[in-house]
Amino acid sequence: MCRTSRTVSLAVCTTVAVLLTLVAARPAAAVAPTPPDGTYKGSIVGGGLARPVVGVAVTPSAEGYWEVASDGGIFAFGDARFFGSTGAIALNKPIVGMASTPSGNGYWLVASDGGIFAFGDARFFGSTGAIALNKPIVGMASTPSGNGYWLVASDGGIFAFGDATFRGSTGAINLNRPIVGMASTPSGGGYWLVASDGGIFAFGDATFRGSTGALSLNQPIVGMASNATGSGYWLVAADGGIFAFNATFYGAMGGRCLPDRVVGIATSKQGEGYRMAGRDGLVYAFPGGASYNFESQDERCRPVRWNPCAPVPYVINPAGGPANAVALANATVDRLARATGLSFRFDGTTDEPADPRREVVQPARYGARFAPLLIGWAVSGTIGGAAGLGGTYYIGTASAPVQAVTGFAFAARNLTAFGSDDLQTGVLLHELGHAIGLDHADDTLQVMNSVGDAGLPLTAYVDGDLAGLDRLGRGAGCITPIQFR
Ligand SMILES: [Zn+2]
Repeated sequence: MCRTSRTVSLAVCTTVAVLLTLVAARPAAAVAPTPPDGTYKGSIVGGGLARPVVGVAVTPSAEGYWEVASDGGIFAFGDARFFGSTGAIALNKPIVGMASTPSGNGYWLVASDGGIFAFGDARFFGSTGAIALNKPIVGMASTPSGNGYWLVASDGGIFAFGDATFRGSTGAINLNRPIVGMASTPSGGGYWLVASDGGIFAFGDATFRGSTGALSLNQPIVGMASNATGSGYWLVAADGGIFAFNATFYGAMGGRCLPDRVVGIATSKQGEGYRMAGRDGLVYAFPGGASYNFESQDERCRPVRWNPCAPVPYVINPAGGPANAVALANATVDRLARATGLSFRFDGTTDEPADPRREVVQPARYGARFAPLLIGWAVSGTIGGAAGLGGTYYIGTASAPVQAVTGFAFAARNLTAFGSDDLQTGVLLHELGHAIGLDHADDTLQVMNSVGDAGLPLTAYVDGDLAGLDRLGRGAGCITPIQFR
């Protein structure tokens, strides 16, 4: 809902989301861990890259990944290590892809002219850098031994080096659509090529399991990955849509509001999930690590968020809360601060009622500024009988992006009767997630899920929560503050 504040000459919008159900006697279910390929290890959340991301590769452990930009800049996350880049070299042609060595202690970058740049324990086995190619190189794959690799051109021409064996190509076929990627089989005895219409060409011991070549796609296919056994594969489209053929579908970004298009997909040898990379450097990990939603996004799909370059002021009304209300709320805010990198400033306790219909500006109580974020314990009627309620108040103008200016996080007073600090913490973590800009997550293992089948209370943000909070936090960059008038 949006309303016009009497004291601020801007439209003020609120997002209010409800923690729907909470059963005090819920048994603590075992929380199934997210498979390693589905975990989020970080990404470039602030945009503004000098050169776009063009590829992604996962470490053998699946506990990390690299992103590579078209200038060969390398961004390493999780257990992925930096072994060098071409970021400082004037390249003849842009980098278009990368591959990890089997050990994860090195990687190759490939340029569109087939130039190969080897780092760490990656060895150079040859390139097409000195050959006049008919069509540009668009991707590469390494052999299981790491003693060779294939390069693929947009016409499906294959160039095999080291112990990589040529098993066939589409170089002599007149393709409907260009080849955009490749994946090798686990044995190294074959490979698939994928075209932008999702047409699949299988060679050697690679088996054709289906394609989207006959479908009318919303967005072109931009990459592919094989599952662990090589019995199937995933194709990813520029909108983050996933097409799984004889491979487990773990989720997709299709239909969600993305700030930039997806450029690639990668998985580990385990193949239990996959990560996609956006052109802007955002990483979407499935399952788990992409399980978040935002309260509101602008027309460019940027989430409503607080300015991370100023402390977020907050106050606590302990009325109706547990005896340790202030300490518990402060400790919960500390967890949010660690998860987001945002700094919070405790402005003390208040007698402002824990009611979502609060004024955005309250000069008598807080002075001439936006009211601070309010944490409190609400009587059941003001929050619709829910276990808690949280939300943001945000403002946007034509010249400034939408930004949160205040918010609230309330737990229900009747929770206090349950007497559990963990329960209070879990509810406040959830409601503070709303106050900082997260909506409900679909995955029931996330703090931000509306029901929480994981055995609430979850007392720590988990994978998808953290990925969403990352995009709302310090790494997302400063917002020019909307000045209070
Ligand atoms: Zn909620």
